[in-house]
Amino acid sequence: MIHSLRFRLLVAFTLVILVVVGAIYLFVSQTTQVEVRRHVERSEQARFERVAFELYHYYRERGGWEGIQPYVEQWGSLYGRRIILTDSCGIVVADSQGELLGQQYHPSTPGMRFPPPWEGDSVGTFYISPESSAVFPSPWSLSQAIGHFLLWGALLAATVALVITYFLSRRISAPVKALTLAARQLGRGDLSQRVQSKDKGELGELAQAFNAMAENLKRNEQLQRNMIADTAHELRTPLSNLKGYLEAIRDGVVRPDPDTIRSLDEEANLLSRLVDDLQELSLAEAHELKLNCQAGDIKKLVNQAIAVRQNQAATKGVLVSAKMPKRLPQVNIDSRRISQVLLNLIDNAITHTLRGGIITIAARQLDSWVEISVEDTGEGIPAEDLPNVFERFYRVDKSRTRATGGTGLGLVIAKSLVEAHHGTIVVESELGKGSRFSFTIPVSE
Ligand code: ADP
Repeated sequence: MIHSLRFRLLVAFTLVILVVVGAIYLFVSQTTQVEVRRHVERSEQARFERVAFELYHYYRERGGWEGIQPYVEQWGSLYGRRIILTDSCGIVVADSQGELLGQQYHPSTPGMRFPPPWEGDSVGTFYISPESSAVFPSPWSLSQAIGHFLLWGALLAATVALVITYFLSRRISAPVKALTLAARQLGRGDLSQRVQSKDKGELGELAQAFNAMAENLKRNEQLQRNMIADTAHELRTPLSNLKGYLEAIRDGVVRPDPDTIRSLDEEANLLSRLVDDLQELSLAEAHELKLNCQAGDIKKLVNQAIAVRQNQAATKGVLVSAKMPKRLPQVNIDSRRISQVLLNLIDNAITHTLRGGIITIAARQLDSWVEISVEDTGEGIPAEDLPNVFERFYRVDKSRTRATGGTGLGLVIAKSLVEAHHGTIVVESELGKGSRFSFTIPVSE
């Protein structure tokens, strides 16, 4: 409960509300105190001036303080203050409360002498008592009232905010809970788990990422299953051929003559090639091939590959030639691996080209890449098979390729090797006219 997202959201919202209300309280009470004090001081001053004005005029009109008492009483009750007026000798001539009349006054607060010193001799001084009940509320009682008001406001705001947070946090935590549940199921092996989310923000992205991950896992699992099934299927044929030959020899049906032994050897070779290719492919697909990239001369590599396959091509009556530009930049490659790609493409071209055909290996620079193409005038590949030739164990003509000993893995491995160099490999072909396989490798910096 304490660790739940919902609880944390509630706590966070409550804290924010408390901090905001506290800050508002401090600010408002400070400001009001200052303003109220200023206002009280100003009205006090105005009162003083008003009383002084009235007294001064009274004195000027009457020439003395005779009959002033009722006026002072009136002003006292009007302002809610005790007003005391003394003559120039300090004897009380008027008291709004009527208690000190005729007595010597000992003021506790400063009074106001009039007229002012620059207008002549003093005719009297008056005092307004500060301690009597004020008409205006004190600054403290005002800020207390604001505090109460804010407290109730804060309580109301906090209640509303908590109710909103409760529903909001449910909306936020629901997709997270759904994701957790789906992730748990996925972890238990149920790869069909997906989460629905209409959220366009981070939670929506998280849900999308989760679904993409689940989709990938499912695809990988399918690929792995297919791979095992395909591998078992591919291994079964040469193995059952071997078994058949051996059983026939054991039963005396076939004699172990040189021809039989050659057939046995071919099947064993195919098996071992298959195992080698599979191992190479698994390394390449796991990106664990260790490339030893160095600056190298691609022309030299092409010429070497042609030389290696010259005899094979000649036996088949096919011409293999290179068409290289005069100047080509050095390339950054693992020569052994790129030779392997070249040999594989040349092998395929020889296999699928009839006597009298021509195989041309060309190269050209494309920006920071060098493109190498192996083009033949062979049988070509049907358009519907073209997208599949880079898939493992894919053979356009199964029976014929089996006879030639192909594993159906050559192009997949070639693709992985080229991609390990960050290049691409593509094929163009026209049935009956020939095929052109081309791949790119990076120019050395
Ligand atoms: P394989 O071991 O069967 O040659 P690859 O992966 O090298 O396997 O080739 C896959 C398939 O692509 C071949 O079986 C063949 O049908 C087709 N193919 C490859 N190269 C050529 C080519 N130059 N001309 C026609 N078909 C080709």
